[in-house]
Amino acid sequence: MENMTGTVPSSVTPYSEFKNHIGEMVTIKGAVHNIRDMSDFAFIIIRTARELIQCVYSPEFSDYRLDEKLVEQCAVKLSGKVVKSETRDGSERYELQIHSIDVLSTPAAIPPVVISKKQINCDLSVNLDYRPVTLRNPKERAIFKIQEGIQRGFREYLSQQGFTEIHSPKINFAGAEGGTNVFKLDYFGKQVYLAQSPQLYKQALVPVYERVFEIAPVFRAEHHDTSRHLNEYISMDFEMGFIESFTDIMNMETGVLKYIMELLKKEYAPEIELLKVEVPEITSIPCIRFKDAKDMCVKKLKNITDMKDFEPEEEAFLGKWAKQHFNSDFLFVTHYLSKKRPFYTMDDPEDPEVTLSFDLLFRGIEITSGGQRIHDYAQQVEKMKKLGMNPEEFETYLMLHKYGAPPHGGLGLGLERLTMHLLGFKNVRNAAMFPRDINRVTP
Ligand code: ATP
Ligand code: MG
Repeated sequence: MENMTGTVPSSVTPYSEFKNHIGEMVTIKGAVHNIRDMSDFAFIIIRTARELIQCVYSPEFSDYRLDEKLVEQCAVKLSGKVVKSETRDGSERYELQIHSIDVLSTPAAIPPVVISKKQINCDLSVNLDYRPVTLRNPKERAIFKIQEGIQRGFREYLSQQGFTEIHSPKINFAGAEGGTNVFKLDYFGKQVYLAQSPQLYKQALVPVYERVFEIAPVFRAEHHDTSRHLNEYISMDFEMGFIESFTDIMNMETGVLKYIMELLKKEYAPEIELLKVEVPEITSIPCIRFKDAKDMCVKKLKNITDMKDFEPEEEAFLGKWAKQHFNSDFLFVTHYLSKKRPFYTMDDPEDPEVTLSFDLLFRGIEITSGGQRIHDYAQQVEKMKKLGMNPEEFETYLMLHKYGAPPHGGLGLGLERLTMHLLGFKNVRNAAMFPRDINRVTP
């Protein structure tokens, strides 16, 4: 064998290059997505990583002889001549006149769901049951290409802003977010928990790197079957030190979101077009205090009984309000009640009943919670005690405070939630590649 040089030889021509090869022979590799036999000729659609390429078979110009062995989902290497094709809208398209087809593999069975139609036409549960197959449908895969763009934008922007990417452990000694939705795990006879968030670790890394971020799965034992909760989701988190105010975090998030939306428009245009995504224009994001938002909800909506938090219909109302008054798809709600925020949240020194925290609503649903954290040791211990927690159990977490930490804060942004609302889905499962919910752990 020869030495490895790091160059993977490519014998294929990407579709984007076809315009430079009109009239020439090129080779592509892909899956047979669809065959439309027109008796004396046939359209064979090849699915590559991001495109559908129309290829035309005719005994007139093909050395290859089409027979029943070539079926949808065959993996092929195909050579053909590039020709400009007719389009109804006058846009430039290219197709291949097939010269030869080399069948690299043949499926053992016909897919259980038709994937070569414009979209998957079956119930969501069936779609999810056959996910490895249904994701091959161009619209389905476009969802997760866009999701990739969101993560990429988050990573790129924060890297540019001096953040360090981290990975925190997912098997933990304690839950970070409180509540009953923590998964317990038997760890060689000892009880441990699956991470509800990277909170305790990202904070610990602020005195180390000052600014950190993580994109990773987190686990929530949601006991209800809702359209917005998964039991495992991807959390995009960041934490930043030396903040002047908790609004620094909101400004940073605004910057992240602007960057993500621009990136999507620039580099994910085929998917945006395919899914007809309305990418929000962000110039600035309006803010409202929790109390003011609550007063407005109570005035405008009937039967509001929970004065400490929002019901989904209140969030939806606030989303519409932000659109009407500020023409914004986003709204920051700030100063949530201290009682309703986790133990690490900093209370407002001007009014300890409320916190220096916020949620971000996107089109009327929460996608982010964030805020300033307590950095003082005595203050954090006292708050834990007040909440009935035992500070000794959090000894390793409290090292952060004990040995000195700058003022800091951060946030968690649910990737599937953001994708769901960007794409206008009613159910978060549409925006999860292999969702985990109360009834589903497969595929
Ligand atoms: P909610 O009130 O919507 O249940 P939360 O306030 O319990 O969410 P946080 O701990 O604030 O959730 O998590 C931060 C973000 O993570 C949320 O704003 C949301 O985008 C996302 N998120 C939280 N729980 C889930 C879940 N079970 N499935 C999918 N995304 C979630
Ligand atoms: Mg929240």
